[in-house]
Amino acid sequence: MKKFSLTLITIYLFFAITLVSIPSILAQCIDQPFPTQPNKNLAVKCLTVKQPIKKLKSQVSNNTDMLEIRFDCAINDETICAKVKSTFEEAGRIITSALTLYTQIIVNVTFREMMSPAILGSARPFRSMPLKDDDGIERLYPQSLVKQLQLTSHPEFAPVDIVADFNSLVALWFEGDPPITSKQVGFLELILHELMHGLGFVSAWGDYFPKAATPEVNDFIESENSNSKAMTVFGGFQEKAFDKYLVIFPDNVTTSSYIKELNKFADGSAFKNFDDFYVKFIASPQYLVAKEIYNHFVTPKSLVFKPSVSDKEEDWTYLETTLNPFERGSSVSHVDNMMYTNTSDFLMTYRQELGRTLNDNIGIGGNYAGGAISYKLRLILESLGYTVNYPSPFPSNETDPVTENSIPTSLSTRNFAYQSSIAYIVGIVMIINALL
Ligand SMILES: [Zn+2]
Repeated sequence: MKKFSLTLITIYLFFAITLVSIPSILAQCIDQPFPTQPNKNLAVKCLTVKQPIKKLKSQVSNNTDMLEIRFDCAINDETICAKVKSTFEEAGRIITSALTLYTQIIVNVTFREMMSPAILGSARPFRSMPLKDDDGIERLYPQSLVKQLQLTSHPEFAPVDIVADFNSLVALWFEGDPPITSKQVGFLELILHELMHGLGFVSAWGDYFPKAATPEVNDFIESENSNSKAMTVFGGFQEKAFDKYLVIFPDNVTTSSYIKELNKFADGSAFKNFDDFYVKFIASPQYLVAKEIYNHFVTPKSLVFKPSVSDKEEDWTYLETTLNPFERGSSVSHVDNMMYTNTSDFLMTYRQELGRTLNDNIGIGGNYAGGAISYKLRLILESLGYTVNYPSPFPSNETDPVTENSIPTSLSTRNFAYQSSIAYIVGIVMIINALL
């Protein structure tokens, strides 16, 4: 009897272990544990994990609990620490009122003294993972989004979804402080902007070769078991989830349609190192394709995010293509600064005006429903795959430019505005001193 029981247990354990250990397909995940070091990416082999199908419903009754802030305040000032924490909580409330989250998103926040007051900080997805889209193309998805999709199988999750790292040396303005001064940075707006990048408002496209645009090449980044002498097989250029909806004008072609052409370059070929890859790419016909794309990315009004949920032209968002030369992290991964800076779509421009609170900008943008998370930004988040709430009424023509009168005159001149703004760069935010 005892022996029989043991056999049964053994059989049960065998199947139990088998069930949890298959399938063991490995996916190439990309971890970015250091938000202020944009080049410090790690290639991680992720096991594919199966999970039971759940009904799509929030796991926690109160939606505001669906965004958890884990806060490490590394300075000796309890008052400031409390303000930083409550600002993140407020940003969490704004996000959880705009999105219906089905699985909790965990944000690791560090607030610390950095090397220079010129660095503001950053937030970004901790882990990005490849998923095959419905158009058959594999793209990198941020973990916070993959969690909401409730897939029956997915690459394994890291314990954290978004990492945020901000600098205590910066002159920050917190909600409830005395009136903001012209040198202060509105912290709530800064955090909301960065958390949007963490949720997936970010493109893979950059100028990784001279005057040419391609998605970031991940094959040569530091790997868990890297062997520097080994040849690296190039797996192909890979877009991010955001890039699925990018359309180049006037050609009216998707950026994704260029991927097939670019990947004719040595797809599956081995290279000694990145330098070897770099030299051979520049000598290839595909480099000319990348140069053509680059030219679109430095021409105003050439790149549009066309939301999946609307065919209306007024629902398109023009992305930042006015910078020439291209500025990696600022170009493409933001909305057009000139078009949207004083509209309800201000949040994702690559510059934040100093001396303005989030509420100031919402007012200047026209006080439309939805506040900081505009109608068009919600369309983008919904296209990515989030379930989005649309407050009512939500005028579809809300992005009409505001009149000159509604802009404070001190901020209406171009030079002054540029000298008193910060530039967001995905991965790191710097104070800009009259760079343009
Ligand atoms: Zn940004």
